[in-house]
Amino acid sequence: MNMLYDVIIVGAGPAGVACAYMCKKKGLSYLLVESGKSVFQGIINTYPEGKKVYASKPKEMAGGFLVDELRPPDKPVTVEMYVQYVQHFVQHENLSIITEAEFQDIETHRGFFQVLTSKGGFKGKKVVLSFGNSIPRELTVYGDAKMVAKTLDDPKKYIGLRTLVIGGGNTAADVVISILKIKRQHNDSQPVYWAHVSETFDVNKETAQRLGEEILLGGNIRLLPGATPRIGEVDDEGIDRLVIRINEFKESDGIELYHAMSFPMKNVIACIGSQGSATLLDKLQIQTISCTEGICKVAKEGDRLVLLNSDFETTRKGIYMIGGAVSPSYMKVADGAIAEEKHPNLIYTAINDAASVIETIFSKLQTT
Ligand SMILES: Cc1cc2nc3c(=O)[nH]c(=O)nc-3n(C[C@H](O)[C@H](O)[C@H](O)COP(=O)(O)OP(=O)(O)OC[C@H]3O[C@@H](n4cnc5c(N)ncnc54)[C@H](O)[C@@H]3O)c2cc1C
Repeated sequence: MNMLYDVIIVGAGPAGVACAYMCKKKGLSYLLVESGKSVFQGIINTYPEGKKVYASKPKEMAGGFLVDELRPPDKPVTVEMYVQYVQHFVQHENLSIITEAEFQDIETHRGFFQVLTSKGGFKGKKVVLSFGNSIPRELTVYGDAKMVAKTLDDPKKYIGLRTLVIGGGNTAADVVISILKIKRQHNDSQPVYWAHVSETFDVNKETAQRLGEEILLGGNIRLLPGATPRIGEVDDEGIDRLVIRINEFKESDGIELYHAMSFPMKNVIACIGSQGSATLLDKLQIQTISCTEGICKVAKEGDRLVLLNSDFETTRKGIYMIGGAVSPSYMKVADGAIAEEKHPNLIYTAINDAASVIETIFSKLQTT
């Protein structure tokens, strides 16, 4: 008969590790379940090598980090240093974690949940879902663009190549910065093209500063605002290529004039955001709401947002969802009304969600 935990936590990113630590501090029994080999596997997989980690806070939030032990240092350190620090912290605190266990489903039983994973089932009175939001979005073009990379696993691969980075946000900017840097260090003057479908790029201040520095140090960047990836194709020589239109003019008689560039797909990285967890939530029978025009400010029309109350509890009572998994926004049910709530995808948000959710669970378990 396996143990009944107070809390089962799914995903060991900043949110999950903070939950585990808070449970320990509050004397709750818990188990942290992680699909990767290590805590912070999501960060290990998605941050470019050497990326600095910032203790960024959303503008509208006044308070500090609620679990100070996991706060990235004020003077930014590399992702490798931050991850190493957290790994030591987890070891030092002897946090109870099972790695390489892929979360699959949750069964409801009388008085407890059974959390099913690739390493068996675990029983918990409450479940916190903190599996992040790092399922990269696919580039949709006519033809096949599966060969296009979605993350930067090794910047060195792009030395000597004209490289195309697609996407207008911080993740794309980080990839651009890493490639510019490695090219500069190897005296490679081949440019990095940075393309985005919109006319403007949308990056935070720190990222913009680092990009500016890299350009001043000689980084060869060509911006392609308003550029649309159109076709994935295999050319006569069997090379997979991506064609991107860099400007288009529509004539009144239906004729289109455009300039386009065709890149071998091995030169292209598409950082166009991540897809939400809607499919998984359907399986878990956790309710989501589709955004319709005019209702959502952060999400786009058709995006499915998870429905949470002000304690981050889902529509399956006793199951909570926090951190990157509910970013960039969710539908908050409060005082009988439902409204879209902004939820910036930051370490700060993940850690602070964790602290407040464990506080809530602690009080609920005291009264049952
Ligand atoms: C390139 C990049 C740079 C960033 N830079 C910064 C920065 O400088 N400062 C900042 O504040 N924020 C930054 N962010 C955002 C920040 O990393 C996220 O907000 C934060 O990691 C969210 O934490 P989380 O715990 O919710 O999710 P994650 O960190 O994504 O952790 C989720 C964990 O769940 C695990 N998991 C996923 N699916 C399963 C499953 N089925 N079963 C079991 N485990 C599972 C994953 O392996 C992962 O370890 C950056 C993000 C990116 C992509």
